[in-house]
Amino acid sequence: MKFEVLTIFPEVIECYIKHGIIGKALKKGLAEVSIYNPRDFTLDKHKKVDDYPYGGGAGMVMQIEPFYNAIKYIKGDGNLRRVILLSPQGKRFTQKVAEEFLEKGEALLLICGRYEGIDERIKSFIDEEISIGDYVLSGGELPALVIIDSILRLIPGTLGAELSAKEDSFMKGFLDYPHYTRPEEFEGIRVPEVLLSGDHKKIAIWRKKEALRNTLIRRPDLLKNLASEDMRVLKELCSEINTKILEDADESINH
Ligand code: SAM
Repeated sequence: MKFEVLTIFPEVIECYIKHGIIGKALKKGLAEVSIYNPRDFTLDKHKKVDDYPYGGGAGMVMQIEPFYNAIKYIKGDGNLRRVILLSPQGKRFTQKVAEEFLEKGEALLLICGRYEGIDERIKSFIDEEISIGDYVLSGGELPALVIIDSILRLIPGTLGAELSAKEDSFMKGFLDYPHYTRPEEFEGIRVPEVLLSGDHKKIAIWRKKEALRNTLIRRPDLLKNLASEDMRVLKELCSEINTKILEDADESINH
């Protein structure tokens, strides 16, 4: 999968993509990231990319020409790509959107704004606007990296143990189960016994139940479209929780 990033801070992207899973995936040739700087597409000798807003007010606005010229240049290779403007006003980016982008396999050109954003006329030259959440960041570089990272994790061969991406939160419609590693006991808190039992069937059942418990407590909104087996485990879990609540209530009444 190919990603292209248009940013006035190429070093921010360059630095992140050298490391960890992304770095390895790029070395293995599983994906490609090209970076372009709108400053290289200005006609201004100072490579200025921003100016004062028409109508006055605080902050600077990024000018349309460097972005337009860069998009035209990048599109010059004739390849298919989706041009995405990163913006807090865009469609919300989710795991599902990441999966859809990967499935379509189109190259993504990610356009990073700064300051008050890019001149509104940029919207005539993009395919869609994407937001990574309801908050405002100083620039589109982090959102671009969020999108690249989350899609790259889904590419077969990117992760050491491919199964681990399938078990991640949101992949099966619910959150991930809790993870533990050595030591067995820390500050009096023990790793759940079942994980030390070596009984893989029991461990799988425990993990499914704990994943559903996590989701029930933190994100019940995700539980709408569960597969029937997961729904059965959820019902079992709910009945266990109800029984425990009633037992606790009984105990406190009797004391
Ligand atoms: N004035 C803009 C507004 O309120 O909608 C915010 C501009 S923001 C300071 C500068 C740039 O950061 C934006 O052009 C966009 O590229 C990026 N950005 C900030 N927050 C973002 C978010 N939640 N999702 C995607 N991009 C974001």
